[in-house]
Amino acid sequence: MSTKRKTVAVHAGSQLTGSKSQPVVPPIHVSAVSFFDSSDELDEALDGKDYVYSRIAAPNAALLEEAVAALEGAEACVAYASGMAALKAVFEAQNLKAGDVVVMSSDGYGVTRSLYKNLAARAGVRIEALMLTDAAAPERIVALRPKLVLAESVTNPLLRVPDIRALARASREVGAALAVDATFPSPYGQRSCELGADYAIQSTTKWLNGHSDALGGSVSGTKEKLAPLRAARLLGGEVLGPFEAWLTLRGVRTLPIRMKAHCEHAAHVAKRLSESSLIERVHYPGLPNHPDHAVAKQVLEGGFGGMVAFDIKGAGRPDCFRFLEAVKLARAAPSLGDVCTLVMHAASASARRMTPEERQAAGIGESLIRVSVGLEDPDDIADDLLAAVSEAMKR
Ligand code: PLP
Repeated sequence: MSTKRKTVAVHAGSQLTGSKSQPVVPPIHVSAVSFFDSSDELDEALDGKDYVYSRIAAPNAALLEEAVAALEGAEACVAYASGMAALKAVFEAQNLKAGDVVVMSSDGYGVTRSLYKNLAARAGVRIEALMLTDAAAPERIVALRPKLVLAESVTNPLLRVPDIRALARASREVGAALAVDATFPSPYGQRSCELGADYAIQSTTKWLNGHSDALGGSVSGTKEKLAPLRAARLLGGEVLGPFEAWLTLRGVRTLPIRMKAHCEHAAHVAKRLSESSLIERVHYPGLPNHPDHAVAKQVLEGGFGGMVAFDIKGAGRPDCFRFLEAVKLARAAPSLGDVCTLVMHAASASARRMTPEERQAAGIGESLIRVSVGLEDPDDIADDLLAAVSEAMKR
């Protein structure tokens, strides 16, 4: 190499030489592009056989994909820049035509509902929103003959739990693809593909990352099912960046032990809340009086999850806003899956993009608070929530 200063400054120290050491923690590969001494190697890399350009494939995202696929019990995984990008990719991979039908849950994440409504409107596709927890839902799917069914394994925010195996049987009967957004239980709580889903979707922003420091999404399934998604991502460029992939993989390392504690804490908080006279109703699939408790025991193999929702007795939106300001330990933040407890008013946050009619049909009232139960002492969490409810309802 030249010894001229400008060249040395740009090129020296760009490659480790002669070391056999393997780092315990993967390095963060920030280079968007790589070069090869051999044109044949470059040619092969452009076919996807090695890393050459990070829109095609990138080391940190690939390591995360390997880890998420393994956690999901799936053959492969494609990582995305966000959970919404993953949901969009699944819709677009179906090549839907005018007149096709997509079934989705009527009580799921409001932003997903808006996204799918927009995508469907552009393609002339009809969206049928159903309560997928209804016993008649599989029959309705068979009657509607959709091309795609999108379920949430635990719905956001009401924590209803559909029987994914029954939805998979119905979808298979009419040749529909079944996609399951399993963000709420995470792959620790449900491996949707093992229950018959074609695609297991995660907003990795949540429990997988676990620390609210990186946005991301993933779709897992068979290599064959994912091949068109990978090809579309190469063209569309909705890739996960190296820092985000690295942080998420770091979170993944502790997912099982975090989730075990989140589940235990959520169960304790749900119990404490249900003992209070200020609370109208507690929504938690682990409570015996939850409408889907029996199904949840079967499809949530890793426990009932870290999410709890509750209705404050007699509360309207201003009361709930006062509650959000009154919590001292929890944080009023519109996300979930963090080590610290996060609270949110569902109607004005996760269900914000639904119409008032859609919210009403889904049963999302103004008094509903959603809690992502953190790793603090569970009695401290319950004390904080109950004190804030009491403060908010003093009026
Ligand atoms: N799916 C569910 C169930 C969610 O709760 C969210 C976000 O809150 C998403 C998908 C979207 O994920 P992201 O914010 O990573 O795009």
